[in-house]
Amino acid sequence: MLDGMWDALDLPGLVVALVAGNALLYLSLAGLGATLLPRGLPGRPTRRIQTEPPRAGEVRRDVLRSLRSAAIFGVVAALVIHAARNGHTRLRFDEAALAPGPFLGALVATILLHDAWFYWSHRALHTRLLFRRVHATHHEAVRTTAWTAYAFSPWEALVQAAIFPLAAWTIPMHPFAFAAFMVFQVSENVFGHAGWEIFGPGLPRRLPGVLTNTPTHHVQHHEDPRGNFGIYFNVWDRVCRTNHPRYAERFDEVVPPRG
Ligand SMILES: [Zn+2]
Ligand SMILES: [Zn+2]
Repeated sequence: MLDGMWDALDLPGLVVALVAGNALLYLSLAGLGATLLPRGLPGRPTRRIQTEPPRAGEVRRDVLRSLRSAAIFGVVAALVIHAARNGHTRLRFDEAALAPGPFLGALVATILLHDAWFYWSHRALHTRLLFRRVHATHHEAVRTTAWTAYAFSPWEALVQAAIFPLAAWTIPMHPFAFAAFMVFQVSENVFGHAGWEIFGPGLPRRLPGVLTNTPTHHVQHHEDPRGNFGIYFNVWDRVCRTNHPRYAERFDEVVPPRG
């Protein structure tokens, strides 16, 4: 049944469905983040990272840019699915690929691949050659919000969307495993831009701070882009010594250390 589903739509139909799906995913997750993160989790308050709220028009600007990026993601995804139907990728449409083992394996592999792709493409986007042409649009957001998550120039949206062909050509997986990755990816992007810190005191100085980045880590990148290029884990920034020199201090300003 699931196998046949992918043949029901022609390429224009796939484009419409995947553009709409990506836009809906962004709007719902950014909306949830903007609503829930200021309230915190039970027993774990969140702290505002930046004191200055966004200025008039900045949220609208970021929503419109993000919707444009979602449309570009949708077109790239439709082209990849179309190529997959013609046997050109490692995507699998059989139900065996939905079993927990292959599904979770593909999800974890895609997260690790994207962590590396994001870090190294982000480093490239900060070179003199590419920053103004491709990445400066994203950095116009200095006071970030949940809605900044996808606020890229069209060229940068293509760089970000490249994770789907990269994954589809290297990792055997069902398209639903990639859809699960997209939910994770957009959630993390919303989390990293929303402007609310949820982790406990001193995290960047403790072991879990190697494993996970924090919202402060990425907001600080928008305040001063000299460091903090990674997305999910703090491993690449540590290995390459590109954490912002004041990352731990900035985190302490947001979440005062105990004692
Ligand atoms: Zn950002
Ligand atoms: Zn940047």
